[in-house]
Amino acid sequence: MIIASDWVLPISGAPIRRGAVRVQGSKITAVGTLEGLARANPTDSIHEHPECVIAPGLVNAHTHLSLSSMLGLLPPSDFATWISQISGPVQRLSHDDFADASAFGALECLRSGITVVGDIAYGPEAPAAAADTGIGGVFFWEVLGIPAEELSETLASHDFPSESGACDGRTLCGISPHAPYTSGPGLIKAAHDYARAWHYSFAIHVAESLAEARLLAGGEGPLRSTAERLAPDFKAPGVGTVRYLEGLGALTDTIAVHCVQLMPGEAELLAAHARGVVLCPRSNRYLLNGPPPVAQLRLAGARLALGTDSLASNDTLDLFAEARELLAVDPELTGERVLRIMTIEGAQVLGVDRDYGSLEPGKHADIIAVHVGDTDDPVGAFITRGTPAGVRSVITGGIWRLIDGRMAFLTKEIEQKSARVAVKAARALNGA
Ligand SMILES: [Zn+2]
Repeated sequence: MIIASDWVLPISGAPIRRGAVRVQGSKITAVGTLEGLARANPTDSIHEHPECVIAPGLVNAHTHLSLSSMLGLLPPSDFATWISQISGPVQRLSHDDFADASAFGALECLRSGITVVGDIAYGPEAPAAAADTGIGGVFFWEVLGIPAEELSETLASHDFPSESGACDGRTLCGISPHAPYTSGPGLIKAAHDYARAWHYSFAIHVAESLAEARLLAGGEGPLRSTAERLAPDFKAPGVGTVRYLEGLGALTDTIAVHCVQLMPGEAELLAAHARGVVLCPRSNRYLLNGPPPVAQLRLAGARLALGTDSLASNDTLDLFAEARELLAVDPELTGERVLRIMTIEGAQVLGVDRDYGSLEPGKHADIIAVHVGDTDDPVGAFITRGTPAGVRSVITGGIWRLIDGRMAFLTKEIEQKSARVAVKAARALNGA
């Protein structure tokens, strides 16, 4: 089949006016003009999207789909308050609850034009539920609050797919110690060594809040008791989180999430050693952490990705809104760079750019059509006018998930199950 529109943004090349993408099975086989592809493949069906831009499925490089049912439960507040509130519901929810929440989150991703995620998971149920809806990417098993010696055992008890490294053909798994105040230095180092030895991607929340910066600088502040409880081997290193990770030997090829409170020289360290930085500017605002130092990271040459973080600290899984927030923080960013951060650069940070992030023959057929109206500037229009409501069609792995503005599968059960999880989470939050 051929998917066509006013414009195609292949990412790997210049925008194509009256462009089209040809899909066979689960893969892209050709990208070009509609006229050229239709002439070369006269028996193919053609699906046109008027006044749209066709792009690769967007990459939401940091989210927690398991928390999607918590949408609206925790109002914007300072980070330390928020994290103390969220632990109750998280402990009370079961793996089935997380799976139901993840299916809902995956649905929200599709509706927003996201087909690839870097997701933080607690076990195999949530990734499986997300993969069922067609979402691909990397699912990071989160480890925290355990001694380093228990890493392998804990991963095994949560069914970490340690044999193959893959959940299925579209998803990979990775490992993520949560953060310096919940995962001690021994655990961070052991998880990093394990990931390096077995070629898993490794992600960690880095320098998200001032509270974290205070803890690392002098062992003080509102995160001190959390660190004492969950990371007993933690000692304030007197440096920022990036330098702390470097000292542990845990910065190489690391996916560093947030990086809001950077110390002098740390942007350069990230650019030199980390795989990339995932920026989540709307979540940073929600938790009163301030804007991330985007210009500093850009000038240092760091590879950048965008994430929404979870629906417990954001209103929507909307990468267009995230991109506009990024531009507001760093107006010097070009539209072309922002588009790359939403697609191929995000895929590079996750280590999945061989399969995702651009429209090229041989890649997974993850394709979105977004209504932007009539335009001569498809990149600018995509970024400034793109919205989830404008997402007309979504194809993942060659399968229609959203077609001409309607979901291509039944969603009612997914929404009902998530609503039930929301009730349970709200009860846990209120101490019931
Ligand atoms: Zn997060």
